Amino acid sequence: MSHNNEKRAIKKVIGIVSGKGGVGKSLVTSSLAVLTRKKGYKVGILDADITGPSIPKMFGVSNRALASEEGILPEKTQNDIKIMSINLLLDDENAPVIWRGPLVSSVVKQFWNDVIWGDIDYLFIDMPPGTSDVVLTVFQTIPLDGIIVVTTPQDLVHMIVRKAYNMAKKMRVPVLGIVENMSYVKCPHCSEKIEVFGKSHIEDIAKTLDIEVFGRMPIDPVLAEACDKGEVEKLDRDYLAQAVDYIVRNLKID
Ligand code: ADP
Repeated sequence: MSHNNEKRAIKKVIGIVSGKGGVGKSLVTSSLAVLTRKKGYKVGILDADITGPSIPKMFGVSNRALASEEGILPEKTQNDIKIMSINLLLDDENAPVIWRGPLVSSVVKQFWNDVIWGDIDYLFIDMPPGTSDVVLTVFQTIPLDGIIVVTTPQDLVHMIVRKAYNMAKKMRVPVLGIVENMSYVKCPHCSEKIEVFGKSHIEDIAKTLDIEVFGRMPIDPVLAEACDKGEVEKLDRDYLAQAVDYIVRNLKID
C-alpha cells in the first residue's frame, strides 16, 4: 500500500489511539498537528473517529467539504492544516452517526483513497477509540508509519497500552510513544502540581515495553475552552513539544 497516488503525496502517517473515548485523543491529535504545522511542515488530519468526530469543531471549521469528479477536497483550517471528517460531509453535523462497522470502515477507506490530500508531510489520523474490529480495519486500510497511545492516569493503563502495543506489533507498526493526558492539575495560586487521579503508573509499563512517555498534558481549563470555541489553533500551550520533536526527528520526511 503506497502513501502516494494521483490525489496525494503523503510522506508520513501517524495514528493516535486510545483505550476508550473521552481521554483526549482528539485533543492530542489536534495539538500535535498544530505544533507540527508551527514548525513549518505541511500537515493534515484524517478524522477516522467516525462515530465520535470532533476535529472540525475543535478548529471551528463547519463548511461542507466539496466533491468533484476527481474526489473529495479536504477543508483547510486557519493555519492551513487540511482536515477531513465525516462531520464535513453530513448535512447536520449534530446528527448522530450510528453506523455499523463495515460502513464505518468504508468511509475511512474513502477518506484515504478518494480525498485529494495533495502534498502532506505529516498526516495525523484520529483513530476510533478502543481496539475493536473497526480499529483493526483502519490499521489494514491506511499504511501507518507509527502510532501514539493516549492514556489517562485513571485508565487501566497496563491493559490498554499492552493491547495497543500488541495490535500495532501484529500490523508491524511501531509505537512511537505514549502521551499521558490529564496527568495533573497545576494550582493556579502556588503552581504546585496535583496528581488528581493518584500516582501515574505509565512509566512502569513504558519501561517494560521499551517505549517512551514523550508527552504529559495537565487538565487545563483553557484547553477545554479553546476546544469548545473551535480555537485550538490559537493556543500557545506546548505540552506536546517534546512529542513533536520526537516525531520529526524519528520520522524524517526526506
Ligand atoms: P477523545 O477524542 O478521546 O474522545 P477528546 O479529545 O474529544 O477525547 O476530549 C474529550 C473532552 O475532554 C473535550 O471536551 C476536551 O476539550 C476535554 N479535554 C481533553 N483533554 C483535556 C485536558 N488536558 N484539559 C482539559 N480538557 C480536556
